[in-house]
Amino acid sequence: GRQDATRAIQPLKMSEATDVEKTAETFEFQAEVGRVMDIIINSLYSDKDIFLRELVSNAADACDKKRFLSVTADGDSVDTTPPEIRIKADPDRQAVIIEDSGVGMTRDELINNLGRIAQSGTKNFMEALGDGTADVNLIGQFGVGFYSAYLVADKVEVVTKSMQAGSPQLKWESDSGSSFTISDAEDEDPIEGSGTRLILHIKDDAMQYLESGKLEELLQRYSEFIEFPLSLFKEET
Ligand code: ADP
Ligand code: MG
Repeated sequence: GRQDATRAIQPLKMSEATDVEKTAETFEFQAEVGRVMDIIINSLYSDKDIFLRELVSNAADACDKKRFLSVTADGDSVDTTPPEIRIKADPDRQAVIIEDSGVGMTRDELINNLGRIAQSGTKNFMEALGDGTADVNLIGQFGVGFYSAYLVADKVEVVTKSMQAGSPQLKWESDSGSSFTISDAEDEDPIEGSGTRLILHIKDDAMQYLESGKLEELLQRYSEFIEFPLSLFKEET
């Protein structure tokens, strides 16, 4: 009768729901973030080099947080994966990859940290840019350094795995504009332990960053401030 029909439909709905969970979910950026990204992606600012400093400093912050969280009150370490930062240019994919073995991010952290601004950072940044007292170089001081990726990239993928027990590997992705997506990333290269891998899809006018020599020059400038092992992948010549 009628009840049987209802019951028969139930499992079908459940499997549909599971499929939806696996596909990308789209989120709107907070309006201010969208405006910052617009400014950055359309910036004629010439010193695009600063993106590496900002992203490496985020990687180091993530390693620092992991080191802090890994040591329990009685001094035991709960995570033995050593914190480190690895950088690689991949000319075949027209990409620069920055990988850290830091804290990583949960789904909620991806939404909150890479989609909205908790502090008034964005507003202050735009005000400073507006009256000419600041240039894009100061981006890090306004708490919006991540978006400097869009000085050199027109699309950014963030594959991440939080050190919180049982966290899945996830991917945040945005080609700027007004939205980003979050999806399951279990079939991407696995992240050992926890950490974050940024894949910057380099703009046609920023191809110089695909040369490891250029990246090396920049890293030499910043690496003295980084207290974690920093390595640059270099092709054999
Ligand atoms: P800030 O570093 O000043 O907080 P950013 O725009 O550079 O501002 O980064 C925003 C937030 O995104 C960080 O506070 C952090 O929570 C998160 N984040 C960025 N990069 C990473 C990373 N590699 N690993 C973990 N979290 C990150
Ligand atoms: Mg930062």
